[in-house]
Amino acid sequence: MKSIIHISGLERHYKMGDHIVAALDGVDLEVNPGDFLMIVGSSGSGKSTLMHLLGLLDIPTGGVMEINSQSMTNCNDAALSFLRNEHIGFVFQQFNLLNDLNVIENIGLPLVYRGVPKNIRQAKAKELASKLGLGNRLRHHPKELSGGQLQRVAIARALIAEPDIILADEPTGNLDSTTSKEIMQILYDLNEQGHTIIMVTHDPKLANTGTRKITLSDGKIIEDCPGQRKPNPNPIIREPNVATKKTLSLMDLLRIGVKEGLLAHQMRTFLTMLGIIIGVSSVIAMSSFSLGSKQKQADQIRALGANLVRIVDKQFETERLVDTRVRGSLGLSRNDLAAIREGIPEIGKAACLREIKLNVLHEHNQINARVLGIEGDYLAVNNLSLQAGRPFDEGDKIQSSPSVILGGTIAKTMLRQAIDAGTKAFKNTPKDLVGTIILLGGSPFRVVGILEDKQIDLDELEATSISDPNNDILIPLETLLTRTSFLDLRSELDEIQLQLKTEDDLARAGRAIKAILGMSHSGVADYDLVIPMDLLKQKQQSQRLLDILTFCISSISIVVGGIGIMNIMLASVTERIREIGIRRAVGATRFDIMRQFLSEAMTISVTGGFFGVILAAIVVVITCQLLELPIVFSLPLLLIAVIASTATGLIFGIYPACQAANKNPVEALRAD
Ligand code: ADP
Ligand code: MG
Repeated sequence: MKSIIHISGLERHYKMGDHIVAALDGVDLEVNPGDFLMIVGSSGSGKSTLMHLLGLLDIPTGGVMEINSQSMTNCNDAALSFLRNEHIGFVFQQFNLLNDLNVIENIGLPLVYRGVPKNIRQAKAKELASKLGLGNRLRHHPKELSGGQLQRVAIARALIAEPDIILADEPTGNLDSTTSKEIMQILYDLNEQGHTIIMVTHDPKLANTGTRKITLSDGKIIEDCPGQRKPNPNPIIREPNVATKKTLSLMDLLRIGVKEGLLAHQMRTFLTMLGIIIGVSSVIAMSSFSLGSKQKQADQIRALGANLVRIVDKQFETERLVDTRVRGSLGLSRNDLAAIREGIPEIGKAACLREIKLNVLHEHNQINARVLGIEGDYLAVNNLSLQAGRPFDEGDKIQSSPSVILGGTIAKTMLRQAIDAGTKAFKNTPKDLVGTIILLGGSPFRVVGILEDKQIDLDELEATSISDPNNDILIPLETLLTRTSFLDLRSELDEIQLQLKTEDDLARAGRAIKAILGMSHSGVADYDLVIPMDLLKQKQQSQRLLDILTFCISSISIVVGGIGIMNIMLASVTERIREIGIRRAVGATRFDIMRQFLSEAMTISVTGGFFGVILAAIVVVITCQLLELPIVFSLPLLLIAVIASTATGLIFGIYPACQAANKNPVEALRAD
């Protein structure tokens, strides 16, 4: 008969400093299918070493080994793991079950590494468990079972992948005599059913109950004699089945990640995750605040008149002024406005204005105000509206009427002063001010309208040269020009305001305006072009460095979180070294182990990222409401945060995962 295991000159030498320990020193052995081979020998004679080599958990330092005529020399890790999974079932003295898994899951473990779906695994495990008398313990965990029950679970696990060879290293060593007998009976039955069994034992009585007994001493076989049992004439020989060469499924990988990575140590996992949660949420929240405040500034500028372009006269004085006039520029004028309107079709509404310093008196009270002469669509361009009264009309212009419109704050001040002075005519509404006479530079003017209050936070808009319309007093430009005296050479206008149809035209219109004014002003640059929105954008650009810095600082905590994950994973690898050995023994490849630990690390980081996003959303919504900022989430940043947390798990998980994968299975199994 062809032997199922063929060994010749097998050696396993350990280098211990200078000298070499020969745990196995040239073993020749043929095991026939259907054999029940007993291995005996004093402690340290090399029995376990031989078993580990037979189980493909260890690599010999010399000699030849074949299983089912397949040579083991030059097999890579994946191939060895596959063969181990297919041909070999391990039963250990210490049972070596996974404490976190229940009976069913422990039994089904070898099939996990063959990609067998969970329901099939469970059905098979249940069947085997019932056969071995564990039918009423399916959901129990190893801690809740007796020694005999534990060994039955281990035997069921050894059988589930239908191997032809069972390796049992002192399977009864930790059991009492009655239980020992029961377990031995199971093994005898398995031999009856055709399994080839190789068993290490210390018990001289048991040693003779096999078909054959070999004795090891100092790594050599010193005796090989037949036992009481007849070899099974109809042995099971497992045909190599390359077709089923599947590995750990994604589903199982995820299951392991969640179970071992998240749920096994909840507090520890949560604390580790906290770094990622804080990192991700601060990256998102910080960027949201920054975007929100930028948007608020832009909104405020729009509130003061969207798409505004201002042409501001430089208001030269003395020699500069004379020089400008001599060179042929008359300064900013209503003719300029007409020329620009004609030349630039993108302009919607337009207005012009001129400021005048006048003493403002109301009921003997001095009022601090800016007096502006206006013409055109001033209210519309500046997004102002009236809360009472009427705007200026054609009549005001033709007659140069002494009419004024008051800014919101001015109106309030006048009201308060009048009420303080006990003037009965005024109640508490600004409306009552319409029709009142005020003195501008000593001349009486009639209030015809009151502007709506503008809620503007000017501090934030400093850079944009915008002034507060609440403090303005408006009169018709024509009135200003005809009723007041001024320096002859002075420009007609202080400012032209243009409203473009869309925000996109701002820069292009700016260039066109310069071209037109360049001609009418004979190339003299006696005006400034001010585009509030552009100024704001420039200011925001200059804040970008700060934004990037904030982003970097908050992303550091993601990195710190990653280090936390790495730390905990390294501890976990050390803590679970025995688990690694067990998984390897039932057929997990190095790659499977690596994927398992990586999936745990990534489960932690991805979950952390997820909660980080939720936390950020809560913080942003609450804080933005308190600070009256618009709520802005940037989708790209959200994606970056999620990708960053995933990458963190991957990057910081890979080292511990490799550490786990590179653990020597034999040493891992020996670890306490
Ligand atoms: P046993 O027959 O008791 O199962 P083992 O096979 O466990 O014996 O060990 C055989 C010999 O090999 C012993 O002398 C042991 O000290 C030695 N040995 C086993 N593993 C190692 C190792 N990793 N490094 C060095 N020596 C080892
Ligand atoms: Mg041993």
